[in-house]
Amino acid sequence: MASALSGAGRSYRHDSLAATPDKCTLGRVEVKEVCHEYLSPTDKTPVAALGPVSLQVSAGEFLCLLGPSGCGKSTLLMIIAGLFNPTAGTVVVDGVAVTGPSRERGVVFQDYALLPWKTVRSNVALGPRLAGASRREANQVADEFLELVGMPQAGDRYPHELSGGMRQRAAVARTLAAKPKVLLMDEPFAAVDAQTRGVLQEELIGIWARTAQTVVFVTHSVEEAALLADRVVVMSTGPGRVQEEFPVTLPHEDRFSRESATRVAEVAASLLASVRTAQPRRPRRGGSWSG
Ligand code: ADP
Repeated sequence: MASALSGAGRSYRHDSLAATPDKCTLGRVEVKEVCHEYLSPTDKTPVAALGPVSLQVSAGEFLCLLGPSGCGKSTLLMIIAGLFNPTAGTVVVDGVAVTGPSRERGVVFQDYALLPWKTVRSNVALGPRLAGASRREANQVADEFLELVGMPQAGDRYPHELSGGMRQRAAVARTLAAKPKVLLMDEPFAAVDAQTRGVLQEELIGIWARTAQTVVFVTHSVEEAALLADRVVVMSTGPGRVQEEFPVTLPHEDRFSRESATRVAEVAASLLASVRTAQPRRPRRGGSWSG
């Protein structure tokens, strides 16, 4: 069932959360020969952090970017989000080049990024409000997404009144409520305790199964990648590049069961072996990179 919410000359279309086959035709991401340089904090010379990187993410796919700290995972995610312009190369989503941030690409950060002076409901309602929904309509959508992330009673509370796990659920709900075609997640569960992380990972897969959005998920945890991904892209450092890709064929609905623990651990072990070889390449004499 769908309802069109409109206001202020713009419109916000609210569809039922149940996945429909056509949803999987949206959210195809193409990263083409992307490179990024930062200026060195000491002498302001350009330092290559990423690339060239080329990869494709299919509509509805759950892709994990995995690699050691500093290999450029977050940089690549921010470039896909349109929050950074790459030094070279392009990102194309559904045939359209990314030139800046868009509601079609929602980002979930590690540190929640909730507005502390707004209630949880108002935080989640932000996307629909910006898209033109009335306050009442946006609150209705917010309540639906809060229910989806398992906190239907939390709408009137403020972020500081929530645990870390609940804050991250609220942040996920806020990003989902803006109806992005592509969900970009930067180590979203790294700051919560291990037990809560397990619950949130399983909930995320449940939500993804219903919304069928494309997900690009950054992690440095091989276990997390093995639990979540359709495909894992292992990145190497110095500057960050695609080292290897691993399709993960275990059915998602089985991965959290005790019976599947051994098979998930086998996938994690293969990923670990790849990550271990993704070490920084040492500069040759004269400054060029070897390897
Ligand atoms: P990852 O997410 O894999 O840990 P990042 O994308 O955060 O890696 O960083 C990639 C490289 O770029 C690292 O060497 C990091 O030190 C460098 N870097 C990241 N942000 C900046 C910045 N704002 N200025 C300078 N260097 C940066």
